[in-house]
This record gives sequence, C-alpha cells and structure tokens, in this order.
Amino acid sequence: MSDAPQKTEGRNATEAAPQALKPLAWGLLPAEWKAACSEFRQPVFRAKQIWKWLQQRRVISWDAMTDIPSALRDRLAERYDITAWADDAYEQSADDGVRKLLLGCRDGVRIESVIIPARDQCTVCISTQAGCAFGCAFCATGKCGFERNLETGEIVGQFIAAAAIAPRRLTHIVFMGMGEPFANYDNVLKAVRILNDFDGIAIGARRMTLSTCGVVPGIERLATENLQVELSVSLHAPNDELRSKIMPVNKRWPMAQLMAACDNYTRTTGRVITFEYTLVDGLNNLPEHADRLIELIKPMRGRVNLIPLSPVEHFDGVAPDMESCEAFARRLQKAAINVTLRRSKGKGVTAACGQLRLSRLAAAASAQIPVSDL
Ligand code: SAH
Ligand code: SF4
Repeated sequence: MSDAPQKTEGRNATEAAPQALKPLAWGLLPAEWKAACSEFRQPVFRAKQIWKWLQQRRVISWDAMTDIPSALRDRLAERYDITAWADDAYEQSADDGVRKLLLGCRDGVRIESVIIPARDQCTVCISTQAGCAFGCAFCATGKCGFERNLETGEIVGQFIAAAAIAPRRLTHIVFMGMGEPFANYDNVLKAVRILNDFDGIAIGARRMTLSTCGVVPGIERLATENLQVELSVSLHAPNDELRSKIMPVNKRWPMAQLMAACDNYTRTTGRVITFEYTLVDGLNNLPEHADRLIELIKPMRGRVNLIPLSPVEHFDGVAPDMESCEAFARRLQKAAINVTLRRSKGKGVTAACGQLRLSRLAAAASAQIPVSDL
C-alpha cells in the first residue's frame, strides 16, 4: 500500500468576520457559564445544559440546543462564537493511520494537530501557539517565527475537531504541536481544566502531557497548580555550551536554573519529569553526553525519551543510525535510568509539516521501544 498522504477537504473557507471576533464558547469554564447565565437572568441549571451541548454533544450551532429557550440562544449567539474554525482539512497517512488536521482560525491563521492511533489508545497532538518565538535550531515551527497565542477555545477546539475525525475515541492529549505551552500559560492551563472536566470531555489529567523547551517560570508555576498532568522538558543537550547553541532559550534560563526548577517540581509534586532528548549524530550522542545526562537527571529520578532527529531543511544535522541510538539508550539504562527510544510514526503525513512530524513524541505506548526490547 502506498504511504502517500490522502487529502480530504473539509468545509469550505468562509471569510473571517471583519469586526472584532467574539469569544469562543469552547473556551469558557463551567463557572463562567454560570456567571453568564446569571447575567442573562437564567436559572443556574442552564449553565450545565449549555456545557453538555458544547462539550459532550459538541454541537456547532446554537439552534441545535433544543432545550435552551430561543431567546437565550439568540443572546448566546450574539455574544459567543460556537466554532473556532473558518475551514478545515486533513491528510491521512495510509501506512499507519496517523492523521494531520489543518485548521484555519477565524482570522486566517492556520494551525495543525495530529491524531496518532496506537493499539488501544489514540493520542492527539495539539498546538498551543501559531508559530513559536523560541527558534530552536532543529525545529521547523521555530524557523517560521511567531504569529500569535492561541485562545483557550482554539486549543479545546482542536480536540473537538480531532475527535470528529479520529478512527476511535481519543484517550490522550499531548501539547507538543506548534508553539511553547508555557509562553501561553493561562490559555493552555484553562484548556487543560476544560478538557479534564468530568461532565465534559473528561480526559484524565494524567493522560495529558505538557512539553516545554525550558521556560523556568512556567515549570515553577505548574508546580503550584495541584494538577496531575505529565510534564516533559525538552533538554536535547547535557551542557550549557551545546544547549545554547541549539536552543536559544538556554541563554535566558541556563541549565543550572532549569535543573533546579525541575528538581523543585519533582519534590513539590512527587511527579517524575520526562526529558526529551533529540539525538543528532556527532552533536549530542557521544558517551560523555550520556554520562552527563545521567548525572543531571538521576537525582530527580527523571525519565528520558530519546528521539532520533527528524530531518529539517534548515538544520545541518542528521539522526544517528539505529545502532548508535540504541547504544546511547543502553548507556542510560545501565545507569538505571528509565529510557525509551521512539520510532517515527506518520511519515506519510508529516513530511510536509515540519515540526509536527514530532508528534510521535507524544505517541502512545506502541510507538515506544523499551530499551530492554531493543
Ligand atoms: N515547544 C515545546 C513543545 C512543542 S515541540 C517544546 O519545545 O518542548 C515538541 C517536541 O518536538 C520538543 O521536544 C522539540 O524539541 C521536538 N522537536 C522539534 N523539532 C524536532 C526535530 N526536527 N526532530 C526531533 N524532535 C524535534
Ligand atoms: Fe518552539 Fe518547541 Fe520548536 Fe523550540 S522545539 S522552536 S520551543 S516549538
């Protein structure tokens, strides 16, 4: 079977409204619906009805809310937009079922999400910003620069759009698409709470992973949230010199500060951090790199995900061969570090989309090769 992507067009584009955009209904918390209902002099149970229509039945028209009085529906329609997307389309990889969703926001900005089915789970990789300002050398999103933060409703809306075309129920969410989640902290954390709500989409916090390039204030703040979400830190190098070369964020928050924040996070929350480490041949995959990495993360019981570099045009580096990746993994494992090496998924759809090919980082268990199985 060919692994060429199949392209499926969605709804046709409609022009974004020229006037200021209304807030998105998907971005409100239950308490905000209660406040809105009381402002509209409605009984409080209306808030729950609206919530269920939006988050459980996921209707995209106010008129579909048949148990809501039409006068209230009109007022809601005046104030909120019920869908975030002016258009959508998706591409499917024929070989492994990975789907890349392309979403046009109301202002014309385009973002991407990826659906990764794997065995009994199905993960969606979600964007938190259009573009990214952090400019990591090996990242296609970073290369394109920053457009804007996504609204909470646009983050939740990606899940809803993905759920509508996913081959089965979505079970996991990783915030590893375009952008840096902690550079859009408030909107992302609000989205996590909406996605987690038991009466709505109800994805367990432990099934959501936030990934940061090392924005220390974000790690510090997350430690105080009392949330069970998973945290990944993209490390990619075990010393300041190398890390600053490939990740400009390291000049702002050097490794001593980053590791102190990670250590504090682990102590405060009791949660283990996963360190993402993209292997680039000859750059960061030598035995001394592995040894330094062990020294850094062992005291905080950190896990490591090794990811062979996905080629990007503007970055002059290649992935090491599998043997060398395995050798690096085994060195960590011998030091009793919990390590996984990831296989690429979704090549058919990701070839064109730069960094989102990396959504495999996110992926579910079957995309992981425990080192013991290598
Ligand atoms: N901004 C966040 C989350 C999005 S990037 C972060 O940096 O963590 C998601 C992951 O993809 C990060 O670990 C990032 O370093 C990794 N990544 C980006 N480009 C890559 C590439 N070409 N090959 C392998 N991993 C890459
Ligand atoms: Fe931004 Fe993450 Fe890409 Fe770095 S790796 S440029 S932080 S999206």
